Amino acid sequence: MDFLSKKARGIVPYTAGEQPKERRYIKLNTNENPYPPSPRVAEVLRTLETEDLRRYPRPDAGKLRAAIAAAEGVGAENVFCGNGSDEVLALSFPAFFDGDGAGACFADLTYSFYEVFAAFFGIPTKIVPLRADFTFDLAAMQAADCQGYYIANPNAPTGVGIGRAEMERFVASVPEKLVVLDEAYMDFFGESCVPLTGKYPNVLVVKTFSKSYSLAGIRCGYAVGDAVLIDGLTRMKDCFNSYPVDMVAEAVCTAAIEDKAYYAEVTARVVSERERVRAALLSMGFTVPESRSNFLFAGRAKVSGGEIYTRLRQAGVLVRYWEKPVLRDFVRITVGTPEENDALLSQLHTILS
Ligand code: PMP
Repeated sequence: MDFLSKKARGIVPYTAGEQPKERRYIKLNTNENPYPPSPRVAEVLRTLETEDLRRYPRPDAGKLRAAIAAAEGVGAENVFCGNGSDEVLALSFPAFFDGDGAGACFADLTYSFYEVFAAFFGIPTKIVPLRADFTFDLAAMQAADCQGYYIANPNAPTGVGIGRAEMERFVASVPEKLVVLDEAYMDFFGESCVPLTGKYPNVLVVKTFSKSYSLAGIRCGYAVGDAVLIDGLTRMKDCFNSYPVDMVAEAVCTAAIEDKAYYAEVTARVVSERERVRAALLSMGFTVPESRSNFLFAGRAKVSGGEIYTRLRQAGVLVRYWEKPVLRDFVRITVGTPEENDALLSQLHTILS
């Protein structure tokens, strides 16, 4: 007797990057921030009233939503919070797409969770290939027959970004279609489309505390958009989990988003290292698209991504690799501290020589 549903048996789940515990690696494989969260986060955890944990948290994460609204310059009714931006993205599929609709459109090389969510919720997909230089083909996307779009900006795993002015032209050209902008890495670019959400009711921006805020372990993400869209997400949330943001996450993320100065400094360090490491990789003969994120997508003629991944791993450096067409010629390298990046570059020199 097989107790699993057809869906549980048939679905191909998303594979997250490894989090090995058996050995200390230089870990450049899951786009985590190399720097710790704001000191205010430690203070919140030190002074946490454990007695309060008896109670359920706010179902609408109201305190955090207010803090996000203030930081983003929008109203609290324009903010939705979830357990990581993955959950926000997951809920957006049933909130905005129909199984018998024209489908969700996204690039062939982009965040691979989109196709898992679409499959899980039975939403058709329209795949538009990236151009040869890894930029988005927005003209082809605009022409696609679909209910809406998922655009990771900057894109993963390529790091390529689209500026706000270009994105506004795209959004304005498809007023009947929803455009979900996954800005998980946007703070490393600084061209967020949150300012467009007041003007265009078809734009939903999704962000996370996992990357620029150094809080991947806390699991919190959010969406900004028209109140109608936020209501749609809330309706879906309330069909799955009344309390996706726990009390600790709410307190920690509220403190973090208020510490603008600390994060501006940490982000600037990551961006400066990104440029240094990219220049070094280019000088070693790697092809590396210009990255607007906290990672670099690097490939080199005559060495496969798999070989680089395996050799680096043996040397104690973890990067991300996918055994798929196009991707298999590349590895994705998260920008680390200057010391970690030096270790990576020195291992690459050894591997290539
Ligand atoms: N979007 C993109 C493009 C990502 O790379 C990630 C991280 N894997 C996420 C969303 C999800 O991040 P989180 O659930 O940690 O907020």
